[in-house]
Amino acid sequence: MYCRRYGRPPVDPVVLVKYLLVGYLYGIPSEHQIEERISDSIALRWHLGIDLDERVPDHSTISQLRRRKPSFHKVFRRLFETVVRQCIELGLASGRLTATDSTHVKANASRKSEYMVDMPVEPGVYWDRLDAYEEEGLEELARKTGKRRKKRTQPLKKTVRRDKKQVSHTDPEAGYLKRAGKPRGMHYLSHQTLDTDHGIILDVAVMPGDSSDIAPFLPQIERVKELLPIQAVAADSAYNSSLVQHELNQMGITLYSPPHKAGGTSGVEISSADFEYHSAEDAFTCPVGKALKLTSLSRTAHSLYWTYRASAKECQQCPLHSRCISESRHQQGRIIQRSYFHEARKIENQRRGTPEYREALRLRQIWCEGTFAIQKQGHNLTRLTRRGIAAAEDHCLLSAAAMNLKRMIKCIG
Ligand code: SF4
Repeated sequence: MYCRRYGRPPVDPVVLVKYLLVGYLYGIPSEHQIEERISDSIALRWHLGIDLDERVPDHSTISQLRRRKPSFHKVFRRLFETVVRQCIELGLASGRLTATDSTHVKANASRKSEYMVDMPVEPGVYWDRLDAYEEEGLEELARKTGKRRKKRTQPLKKTVRRDKKQVSHTDPEAGYLKRAGKPRGMHYLSHQTLDTDHGIILDVAVMPGDSSDIAPFLPQIERVKELLPIQAVAADSAYNSSLVQHELNQMGITLYSPPHKAGGTSGVEISSADFEYHSAEDAFTCPVGKALKLTSLSRTAHSLYWTYRASAKECQQCPLHSRCISESRHQQGRIIQRSYFHEARKIENQRRGTPEYREALRLRQIWCEGTFAIQKQGHNLTRLTRRGIAAAEDHCLLSAAAMNLKRMIKCIG
């Protein structure tokens, strides 16, 4: 819409999006280098519709566009979604088995400008879902035991889950990554869900590097479910929780995910496996036949548990006391916890170790880890040149769109 005779020449926004996409398709890390590459390449000039004697748009045009039109970034998600829809229409994704994983992308943040702040830990909608189940569980507890726990006046996240967090002045939205086997420092995490038929990436969610993997998982699966009917999803243990198992069960989606590594033991010889559950009475019996009755509903960061307690008096008189109760709790009765989502957990446990389970985890490893390796090597998914979570999301979406375009061309070609 610019006047052609005065001022700077206009550039078609389609050309600018293609211009950026060239960088992700060929793994060119900077906009300056993209400009040079297009100037020198007849094929790329043809692709962008720029004549041999025409000047390639200056790289600064892109940054000016971003500065003056913040809504421009919405184009990248629309572009990614359009490519995904085209892949689905071509039959390249069926939803038979999807797989989710995340990778770290280095933020453009200075290590020297890091400082510590006291921040609440917020796994977002994950805790909102858990809050709703907790309320439901407390009602059930009141019906079963006749006592109602005092209602929480403030959400758990504001009272309990506060943590010291490392923040960078240059990119305060990035998060400090501190995971075994990963580089330390300011990063973002790109969570990708892909279809294992042809490796088409169906959704991308970007989170700060210090966030939990579980937080974006369920919303991501819900978004993918709107695109195509998912039958099963494979994910590593970081995405596994009893709430996730329950929610996926409700959606009719099979989860293939290894369990979390066993945490610390209670330090006692008699484990929870030695206690027998009686569904009719909703109670456990211990190895000497004493009853453990339902007393409360406990909440952790990721799940809810029914708590069953033995009588402290009976335990103190028991000959197995030293083998059943740890030194630190010797004056109390034995406690056993049962997941609030135990039905979903039971179904998931039965699935573990089956040939379908092993095959799903094998495909997850091949497609997810293989795709990240290709994106890191040739599609700019290693480090960010811009700052902020919106820029990180644009970056990861363009890398995924380039990957999908290549796989689409390969499959239909
Ligand atoms: S210590 Fe308590 S719970 Fe454990 S076996 Fe003895 S009575 Fe049962």
